[in-house]
Amino acid sequence: MKTRFLVVFMGGVATTFLFLSLMGGGGTVQSPTGTAPDRYVYYPGTEELAKDEIRLIACGTGLPSARRDQAATCWLAELGNGDKFLFDVGTGSMANVAALMIPYDFLDKVFLTHLHTDHWGDLAALWAGGWTAGRTKPLRVWGPAGETPEMGTAYAIEHFLKAYNWDAVTRNFVLSADPGKISVIEFDYKAINAVVYQENGVTIRSIPAIHAGDGPVSFILEYAGLKVVIGGDTFPNKWFIEYATGADIAIHETFLTPSDLVKFYGQSPGQAIAVGTQIHTSPPAFGKVMSTIKPRHAIGYHFFNEQATHDHILQGVRSTYSGPLSLAVDDMVWNITKDRIVERMIVSPDQAWGVNGPNKPPAPPAPGSVPNPISDFIKAGRWQPAEEAQAAMVDKFKKDNNLN
Ligand SMILES: [Zn+2]
Ligand SMILES: [Zn+2]
Repeated sequence: MKTRFLVVFMGGVATTFLFLSLMGGGGTVQSPTGTAPDRYVYYPGTEELAKDEIRLIACGTGLPSARRDQAATCWLAELGNGDKFLFDVGTGSMANVAALMIPYDFLDKVFLTHLHTDHWGDLAALWAGGWTAGRTKPLRVWGPAGETPEMGTAYAIEHFLKAYNWDAVTRNFVLSADPGKISVIEFDYKAINAVVYQENGVTIRSIPAIHAGDGPVSFILEYAGLKVVIGGDTFPNKWFIEYATGADIAIHETFLTPSDLVKFYGQSPGQAIAVGTQIHTSPPAFGKVMSTIKPRHAIGYHFFNEQATHDHILQGVRSTYSGPLSLAVDDMVWNITKDRIVERMIVSPDQAWGVNGPNKPPAPPAPGSVPNPISDFIKAGRWQPAEEAQAAMVDKFKKDNNLN
């Protein structure tokens, strides 16, 4: 098989950048009318997964403040058995998820590490967007309980649905209500390596994290003898060290240096040192975690990744860790098997549409079964010339589709 890999790690200490420079040429073009060699990219929807393979996609790697180049935290794990799991759906991330053109029915399982908006702010886009674009069943959300009920995931989802009540009531009139429902599976954030999901050969466990308050967790996904650890926001903690050891992929935040938090994020020095070294993980601390647990491949994220910040973070990480590393940006993808870990970039459309899956959409409510949320007073304001302007188009469409 021709090589089509941006990076192939068989272990060892080579960095992404070394392999990039070694493999950047990518083969030869044999004739002026022939095809170019493989481009080291993944075109979503064009490759079947092997049974024992995991495809991991960075759909959000940024920060709570919005940036077009990097959405907030979101990881998609696609498994060879057909299961797909979203780990966090941070603000802005659903545009990246949607560009993969995966039917929304396959994106019904969401695991939340914690309830900061940069980790679940785009649940609304998945919930309502998926509902209008072909999801046929309710969403399922797994997340930690809080120290009190009001700090937990079940409370958050209950009140999320209350906040979006107008949205749901008005959609319920024209769409089946089922895909607009969300079921919550809440678990103890203090539980250590406890199973929170086990189906179809997939096990997902939870470990506590040390972040802005009690409640945050990290997740450990095991499938086909592979272990992928998805670290949420946390200061380095003993549970991660113990249970992420031996991971094939270890994802862990590495935050901006305190100096860059001051320079770029406008934080005061006091705030920067507290945020960057007490409730998040600094680059040297990230490196220490990785050189201790020695994953096959380490992934750092949760910072705006540009030349200056990248250099500062890499310097910090490399002061304590020399192993395989990616400092993630949005649309990085890793294919993981026992034999190899391959990193590429995704090439996807900016103008993607939702794609239907194999399930038939549930029927909309029968006429009269759901109260019309538009009153007679508002209906009476319809402007007649607009009806007349569209009458020919409406008549033709109805005729073509046998509608009354
Ligand atoms: Zn957070
Ligand atoms: Zn965060």
